[in-house]
Amino acid sequence: MEINITALPGDGIGPEVTAEAVRVLEAVAEKFNHELKLTTEKIGGVAIREFNDPLPDQTLAACLNSKAVLLGAVGHPDFDNHPPHLRPEAGLLKIRNALGAYANLRPARLFAALADASPLKASVIEGTDMLIVRELLGGLYFGQPRGEQGDSVINTMRYSAAEVERIARVAFDLARKRRRQVTSVDKSNVLEVSRLWRQTVIGVAKDYPDVTLEHQLVDSCAMALVARPASFDVILTENMFGDILSDEAGAVVGSLGLLASASTGGPVGLYEPVHGSAPDIAGQGIANPLGAILSAAMMLRYSFDLDAEAASIEAAVERTLAEGYRTRDLTVAGEPSVSTTEMGRRVIAHLS
Ligand code: NAD
Repeated sequence: MEINITALPGDGIGPEVTAEAVRVLEAVAEKFNHELKLTTEKIGGVAIREFNDPLPDQTLAACLNSKAVLLGAVGHPDFDNHPPHLRPEAGLLKIRNALGAYANLRPARLFAALADASPLKASVIEGTDMLIVRELLGGLYFGQPRGEQGDSVINTMRYSAAEVERIARVAFDLARKRRRQVTSVDKSNVLEVSRLWRQTVIGVAKDYPDVTLEHQLVDSCAMALVARPASFDVILTENMFGDILSDEAGAVVGSLGLLASASTGGPVGLYEPVHGSAPDIAGQGIANPLGAILSAAMMLRYSFDLDAEAASIEAAVERTLAEGYRTRDLTVAGEPSVSTTEMGRRVIAHLS
């Protein structure tokens, strides 16, 4: 099969972790007899520097010509004072929108070997295996009007029932392949948007009598995520709540650097680690590439229906961690760690 993808390494540690994910994909393609057709383009700060545009036309065209996009991360402090349309993050929001990727799937599973890497007690995190289904194209990040209005600045949280319904269906469908439990997270005690959210989710749930639905306010969910993370199966939530809760889930399972994501719903899938460009560690060769590598596995599964290939990457990651290999984010001070490239090499060596 032809695996036709565009890689957008982006800024900071993005290129470092994407390089490892691409190496893993090359190894999988060779092992399973596929042809990897890879185009690499610029997004974010590097694209602003070269083209004065965080998502240049040629980048977007390449993405739309592929079956899937593998993105590293965007963001650099140099652009902190730029106008909104000339910030790296604008490129990210534009590509998500252009690809119609409204369903952001963020699994957070505890690898058995990493029970000691979480800041939480092993007895609390044991069995943690959740999937956060985050709405990606609505809410505060896209709502209009936005920007300066006289002496105020506004952002708008807006959702239509149709937008809530389509993401809710994704969550319920995925719950059917898991433990059949959906926790819908909102702030319906305060926000009208959340009341529409809750009411719509209740309506969708009627079509899924075999799936248990519970509702949780976002503040209490944030607490429950650290108090009883193993009790969650599928968490369904809106854009900003999902952004925040998934970083928290990353810390629960050991490191943000481990978390992968898939953004689906449009014609071209978008796959990216959950973490950002981590300017504090960029260029040092110490970033954890596993979030990017596991995003590549999600890409094979969701965009190419290559389940065995995806599973072989996931198993290789599991074996690498079980043998004790750790990047620095998974260690406590003084413990030995491996570099980004060494971690990538170890995963490739464990592919079966
Ligand atoms: P971040 O996710 O980049 O980093 C948070 C912390 O986690 C840092 O201490 C970092 O060193 C660590 N970390 C992150 N990924 C890691 C990895 N793979 N291995 C080891 N450690 C890792 O978040 P931030 O510092 O708040 O943001 C930095 C920049 O990234 C900002 O410009 C922000 O806008 C951008 N950002 C981009 C995305 C994206 O591209 N999807 C997501 C979040 C933040």
